[in-house]
Amino acid sequence: MLVAGNWKMNTVLDTATELASEVVQRVGQEQDVRVAVCPPFVFLESVAAILKGSRVHLGAQNMFYEDAGAYTGEVSAPMLTSVGCTYVILGHSERRQYFCETDESVHRKVVQALRHRLVPIVCVGETLEERERGEALTVVQRQVYGALQHIELETPDALVVAYEPVWAIGTGHTATPEQAQHMHAAIRSWLAELWGEGIAREVHILYGGSVKPDNAASLFVRPDIDGGLIGGASLKADAFAAIVEAARAQVLRKRV
Ligand code: PEP
Repeated sequence: MLVAGNWKMNTVLDTATELASEVVQRVGQEQDVRVAVCPPFVFLESVAAILKGSRVHLGAQNMFYEDAGAYTGEVSAPMLTSVGCTYVILGHSERRQYFCETDESVHRKVVQALRHRLVPIVCVGETLEERERGEALTVVQRQVYGALQHIELETPDALVVAYEPVWAIGTGHTATPEQAQHMHAAIRSWLAELWGEGIAREVHILYGGSVKPDNAASLFVRPDIDGGLIGGASLKADAFAAIVEAARAQVLRKRV
């Protein structure tokens, strides 16, 4: 299980370090669930210093697909690894919607992240209109193949997929556990076509979209939901810790 917090364009330096300290206090020694926080770029280094010595990983929210050069305003994979990032969120629907990200650019970024041993959290998900037209599976399948085809995955933990239905992000409308499980199982079957059953079984597929402490357990109990990408609720350490706890309960349940 993996629970990753996407802070989006929130916090300033003081509140970012405060939130990171609170997360470390609550879940810093978590052993059963992998935990990550993804602050804005400018706070990565300060947050990294606070996470040091804890088990909480650092992630970024985006990156560019070149190593260096004349790309004003962009941030590269080597920059992210140099400040201690383990993860990078790629293809988030907000980046697709507001910053013209395409399946092609997401693909190039995934290749680049893997080359630098950053674990990409590759986001896919349909809009409400696409779901209502009955196109959810087709759209998500296109995004999965668009981002991941022609990629050799050496180990299942080198990459994470996050299913985030756009209509559930920041809206308070979570997908039902059945809707989420249905899509996650489909995503796993496409990963199996790309990389074989063995790898596909082990790749973490996260659900994201209005996950809160009171609905996390009902999602995490589903067989193909391996944790969550958490937006709004990751900005409150208590809520984030409660979601990590729900994931932990699921890990312990599976062990017995
Ligand atoms: C997200 O943006 O990745 C997300 C899941 O947001 P929220 O939890 O606020 O819906």
